[in-house]
Amino acid sequence: MRSIGMPLRKLDRGEGAYVWDDEGTEYLDFLAGIAVNSLGHAHPVFVEAVSRQAATLAHVSNYFTTEPALELAERIVRLAGAGENGRAWFGNSGAEANEAAFKLARLNNSGEARTRVLALVDAFHGRTMGSLALTGKPHMREAFEPLAGGVEHIPATIEALEASIDDAVAALILEPIQGEAGVVELPAGYLEAARDLTRRHGALLIVDEIQTGAGRTGEWFGFQHAGITPDAITVAKGIGGGIPIGGLVTFGAASDLYSKGQHGSTFGGNPLATAVANAVLGEIERADLVGNAARRGPQVRERIEAIGSPLVAGTRGRGLLIGVALTEPVAGKIVDAALARGLIVNAANDVTIRLAPPLIIGDAEIDAFTDRFAAALADVAHAAS
Ligand SMILES: *Cc1c(COP(=O)(O)O)cnc(C)c1O
Repeated sequence: MRSIGMPLRKLDRGEGAYVWDDEGTEYLDFLAGIAVNSLGHAHPVFVEAVSRQAATLAHVSNYFTTEPALELAERIVRLAGAGENGRAWFGNSGAEANEAAFKLARLNNSGEARTRVLALVDAFHGRTMGSLALTGKPHMREAFEPLAGGVEHIPATIEALEASIDDAVAALILEPIQGEAGVVELPAGYLEAARDLTRRHGALLIVDEIQTGAGRTGEWFGFQHAGITPDAITVAKGIGGGIPIGGLVTFGAASDLYSKGQHGSTFGGNPLATAVANAVLGEIERADLVGNAARRGPQVRERIEAIGSPLVAGTRGRGLLIGVALTEPVAGKIVDAALARGLIVNAANDVTIRLAPPLIIGDAEIDAFTDRFAAALADVAHAAS
């Protein structure tokens, strides 16, 4: 097999916030499969749900429904506050959820010529051709153009939105915090202004909650910090805790846009994936892991700032989606140094370390993180001097 760059470490097993490689080396996992393993690794609730459902009914076609699928739709509509007319559709990944959202935007045209879709500069919405068209990162797009038409990327400022929006806009899609861009928050008041402007122009407000959902930011979904009601959200990553699942949740009148037969997926919403997502979300609720994310996030950030490393400019984010801003472009070196110290973190870009630990972390994990991260920062600072 051909490998590019550094050889990948081969991971073997996990438990809680820790994983081990095939040589028995332990790592504290502060990335959680990129915000996926909400309950950490091999959580008994996850293991039990997979086993029980696999032994009952793993898959049926879309010609039937199942109790886990109905229960998950109801649960996610309730947690999102999508109300009476809320609806959920399930697929297998985040990109697929955003494909469903893009198609929803195209359906918002009832006889008018709504050909424009607005997205934000630096946005990440996935790697399939439609979700890539929504993604605002030229280096990811260029090799694959032409992409689906009509998408315009605007800077994340209220002024840019005011200047761009008109009655030809079908939808505005955005992340409440841009995770891949380096855990970048929207300007204060942006979501409220976006809600107001999209409503005034008949455009849908679609919030990509794939990285920010499932309690990670200290609310069930990132938009809830702003107290607005979107027309749709997309979910994936953390709602399955490790089983592949994604979904589109629609609110109010947006729930009437799709009609029967306009979208589908063979695996989407199968009883295995939906039973596991139910169990994961149920455990997040039971153990108040949304509250834990809200409480632990500031603790992690205080500890990082208290290290006092000259490489750290500051921290940002919400709950347990944290960006560590660096004073120098050494994120890759810090990731490698952290691995050598038994810690998994991620370089969102050259100047930002991204942290997305499992939502179950407590004092012991934060202590271990602080020791290992401080050591890694010192290793890199020392090597540079
Ligand atoms: C990860 C991510 C996606 C893509 O999800 P996949 O499951 O990798 O297809 C889309 N949007 C956001 C905000 C993400 O973080």
